[in-house]
Amino acid sequence: MSLVEIQNINMNYHSPQGETEALKNISLNIQEGDFISIIGPSGCGKSTLLNIMCGLLKPSSGKILLEGKEINEMDNRIGYMFQKDHLFEWLNLWENVSLGLKIQKKLNKKTKEYLENLLDSYGLSSFKKHYPNELSGGMRQRAALIRTLALSPHILLLDEPFSALDYQTRLKVCDEIFQIIKNAGKTVVMVTHDIAEAISTSSRVVVLSKRPSSIKKEILLEFSNEYETPLHRREAPEFRNYFNTIWKELDFNE
Ligand code: ADP
Ligand code: MG
Repeated sequence: MSLVEIQNINMNYHSPQGETEALKNISLNIQEGDFISIIGPSGCGKSTLLNIMCGLLKPSSGKILLEGKEINEMDNRIGYMFQKDHLFEWLNLWENVSLGLKIQKKLNKKTKEYLENLLDSYGLSSFKKHYPNELSGGMRQRAALIRTLALSPHILLLDEPFSALDYQTRLKVCDEIFQIIKNAGKTVVMVTHDIAEAISTSSRVVVLSKRPSSIKKEILLEFSNEYETPLHRREAPEFRNYFNTIWKELDFNE
């Protein structure tokens, strides 16, 4: 059984301006430990698909199974990190990362320790009392990830997690976040429009077409062990071939 099964998802938005066909017949199986990147042109329906996967949005037809059972609403097994970090500016770092646990009444000695460890591992311990506007873009992004990890989800949905960062920071934060996720042994579905980012992090890349979006191609990525981190992968000989394959599939030139 797959961890997540996306079965024949169709999504049409209705608004006074008319109907928008966003997703057309999307089916995908996600296995435990997968790191899947979903890549596609802007406006094709990537965020829509993540919103459907976590139960925020109901599809026009089709269903999502998590461990064999249909999901209907927000489920604790799924952690969602939005494109924008959505840190609360009026709460300090500690209050931000512990908020989810507090709301769920799960803030106890053990979970506090887990949070302390995460903050420590990612260089944020001495910033607990700082407010988001006192943190760098990379620190905010790590804080948002720690907040998502705090609830111990099985699966992480990441919507363009690095797009707000400048190029240099982006490479570094991507590397760091990749390590956090690997160490925690999570399954990931990441939306991006950056081909290099998709190749450097993923076990599989799913290319979506223009709207109405369907799956154009799935590419399995394999690298030898010496190219294990995103930064190393960018140096690997296979990188260029994968890049060209994905580039050819993407519709944004048309
Ligand atoms: P992406 O994340 O790939 O850029 P989105 O999933 O945000 O794309 O949007 C896909 C399409 O659906 C776009 O054309 C967008 O304008 C439209 N859309 C998104 N959300 C809504 C909504 N709530 N109502 C109507 N149309 C929407
Ligand atoms: Mg989007």
